[in-house]
Amino acid sequence: MNEIKRFDYTDILGWSISRYDKFLNCKRQYFYDYYAKYDKDVPIEKLQFLKNLTSKALETGNIVHDIIRDILTRYKKSTKPINKDKLFKYVFDMTERYCSSKTFFEHYYNGEIIYVDEIYTKVKNTVLNLLKSQRFSWIEKNAIKQLDKWIIEPDGFGETRINNFKAFCKVDFLFPVEDKIYILDWKTGKADEKKHSKQLLGYALWASCNFETKAENIVPIVAYLYPHYNEKNVKVSDFKMEELASSVEKETKDMYEYLTDIEKNIPKDKKEFSLARNIFHCKYCSYKEICPGSQVNNFQNFKLIPGV
Ligand code: SF4
Repeated sequence: MNEIKRFDYTDILGWSISRYDKFLNCKRQYFYDYYAKYDKDVPIEKLQFLKNLTSKALETGNIVHDIIRDILTRYKKSTKPINKDKLFKYVFDMTERYCSSKTFFEHYYNGEIIYVDEIYTKVKNTVLNLLKSQRFSWIEKNAIKQLDKWIIEPDGFGETRINNFKAFCKVDFLFPVEDKIYILDWKTGKADEKKHSKQLLGYALWASCNFETKAENIVPIVAYLYPHYNEKNVKVSDFKMEELASSVEKETKDMYEYLTDIEKNIPKDKKEFSLARNIFHCKYCSYKEICPGSQVNNFQNFKLIPGV
């Protein structure tokens, strides 16, 4: 397999599944997340603080990803069986470290006490679900032969080009077995077939662009880790790749509409970024303390007040 392609830095915005998702759900939240320095009303430090709030679900996923990354990286040094006691201690220490360095949404807004033990138990069980799965045994048996070619959460953001548009598709774990390239993406939350399939197709595009492999030789798999291990194979074909490329182009252009300067990625005025129409988004939004949308949505029964 070739070296991962690198691109020179440009200011131009890059599509990613999460960026476009945010753009669709609430334009104002998208503004706070990506253009905080252009906000004239709220200090950037406050927006940064709110952006950095985590939640129990988010942090669990974050720790699980880092633990799996470390387990797989360890195989590059030693293929000895994993010592479970050592692993559990490692999981606990990491959970404690991550939780103590962050502010939780549930604590900040609802005063809830965050128990490290509760998060640790879920992280441990989630990781164990993977280690006990047939897929993991299969990896240990078949993929280990080409350990040197494993790509585990590569550095950077997975920048690539789709139809000449900048895009970010960062894989969790990619490895070859015989003439196929497998891509596994860990999920700790609920299944969302449409969204996750699209995300995995993006990874397949990234792989085909980096390793010049035909679509039919790429096997992307969504691995749901909780409450039990379950996986979904995403079908890849030239047609599906073309479909994704067209949708990335369209979605990127939708986001460009909110800019005054595309090359420099400068946004229009904040007022152009409308508030969420659905109270559900405000309820779980980190910016509800400073955003008029949370009050508007609470009192206006889900209606959008333009220009706030
Ligand atoms: S509080 Fe509601 S309207 Fe405001 S950014 Fe969050 S989701 Fe959007």
